[in-house]
Amino acid sequence: MNIDDRLAKVKYVNDEESHLKVNQEDCKKCKLKMCTYICPANVYEWNENENKIIVNYENCLECGACRIACSAKSLEWQYPKGTSGVTYKYG
Ligand code: SF4
Ligand code: SF4
Repeated sequence: MNIDDRLAKVKYVNDEESHLKVNQEDCKKCKLKMCTYICPANVYEWNENENKIIVNYENCLECGACRIACSAKSLEWQYPKGTSGVTYKYG
């Protein structure tokens, strides 16, 4: 089973507010932008026109990789509130 098939099995309950907060000033200065490479769910996108990181937090798998990869250590990461966030279905 490839990663797209696996991601299709994941269910999300959206929170209205992002549980992932970036510091856009740090992101502008960040050379590697590792968050855009390391996230398995493509949550982070660098928008060249707007000169900012777009955070598609609704797709987050809560794996925690981005908080380790952020070289500026400026990513505020917390679990989504209450019953929102990701649910895994196995099989
Ligand atoms: S790695 Fe951190 S500082 Fe760099 S673009 Fe991503 S969130 Fe911003
Ligand atoms: S916790 Fe994992 S899935 Fe969520 S944004 Fe970070 S790297 Fe992506």
